Amino acid sequence: MKLIFLGPPGAGKGTISDLAVVKLGLPHISTGDLFRAAVKNGTPLGLKVKDIMASGGLVPDELTIALVKERLAQKDVAKGWILDGFPRTIPQAEALDKIAAADKAVNFDVADEIVIGRLSGRRVCRSCGKIYHEKNMPPKKAGVCDVDGGELYIRDDDKEAAIKVRLDTYRKQTAPLIEWYGKKGKLLAIDGVGAPAEVLGRFEKAIKK
Ligand code: AMP
Repeated sequence: MKLIFLGPPGAGKGTISDLAVVKLGLPHISTGDLFRAAVKNGTPLGLKVKDIMASGGLVPDELTIALVKERLAQKDVAKGWILDGFPRTIPQAEALDKIAAADKAVNFDVADEIVIGRLSGRRVCRSCGKIYHEKNMPPKKAGVCDVDGGELYIRDDDKEAAIKVRLDTYRKQTAPLIEWYGKKGKLLAIDGVGAPAEVLGRFEKAIKK
């Protein structure tokens, strides 16, 4: 099964992907995670995208499509994948159709006020990438990852000015994909409000249908 996760930043795509990969046994491919790894490792790609990401803008289509094409050429994706955070523009969706068309696009619908609360409270483990929320999903010990003891940090793009840019970018460039996949008969709309287990339950029900 080839699935795309759509929705605004903070819709819970990463959290639900982490839970869904365990249930479905599919690799979770997050372009945001791939870009963050490139930045952390100081690769030529990382140097190109660092400032764009910190501002909340989108990395150019050309670079993003090349990254996904390379990732989808690897062996572990033969049975399918969950693409989280890609495509984010119509040209990216058109490119993906040529590489490997998705079976379904799952849209996690969440209102802006909730998204802002989720993003501003989000904390991420610097070493393993596990996601927490300071109020809704806190670690056992403040500032420390439950899994590997890594330091929890606030992503540059989860700071207030960048959140605003990301929501504007989402509305202008990514939200049109909902209609785009709808017209192809591939859209599954999920209410993304609630605890992760609740949203996961709705997602599982929808893909079984
Ligand atoms: P995410 O973790 O999905 O919120 O992505 C973090 C940042 O990575 C975004 O704000 C963009 O700067 C960049 N990014 C991730 N995926 C894409 C994409 N499909 N197209 C362009 N930029 C992306």
